[in-house]
Amino acid sequence: MPETAKNTYDCSKCPGYCCSYPRIEVTDKDLKRLAKHFDLTTDQAEKKFTRFYSSDEGKERILKHQKDTVYETICRFFDLDERRCTIYEARPTVCRDYPNGRKCGYYDFIKFERKHQDDKTFIPSA
Ligand code: SF4
Ligand code: SF4
Repeated sequence: MPETAKNTYDCSKCPGYCCSYPRIEVTDKDLKRLAKHFDLTTDQAEKKFTRFYSSDEGKERILKHQKDTVYETICRFFDLDERRCTIYEARPTVCRDYPNGRKCGYYDFIKFERKHQDDKTFIPSA
């Protein structure tokens, strides 16, 4: 996720909550970037890394998940030991934009709980 000196959150101190969102959209442009990164065709990348989610709003291409001990499931590109993205340069636009500002609500929440539990590693259930 995007991080600059001005941000008030620190992803290195978070277990990667935003990567556990069930619907992480992959646009056509994202798919091309992913395919290039892995030296695959877009069809191969689509099949390997994504699936389609249907709702009243229509069909959406999203990233596949893997099992996770912290959040049950998480993006297939997430390193479960390092707790970070393994395709940072090739990640989808929605990941680049998140959390759309200088603040991350989950980070504020986890920071608050860790302070009150007096435990720097505490992970509250979201
Ligand atoms: S939930 Fe917030 S702090 Fe955690 S990885 Fe995502 S952007 Fe970073
Ligand atoms: S592509 Fe990377 S940043 Fe985006 S959800 Fe997956 S692990 Fe997180």
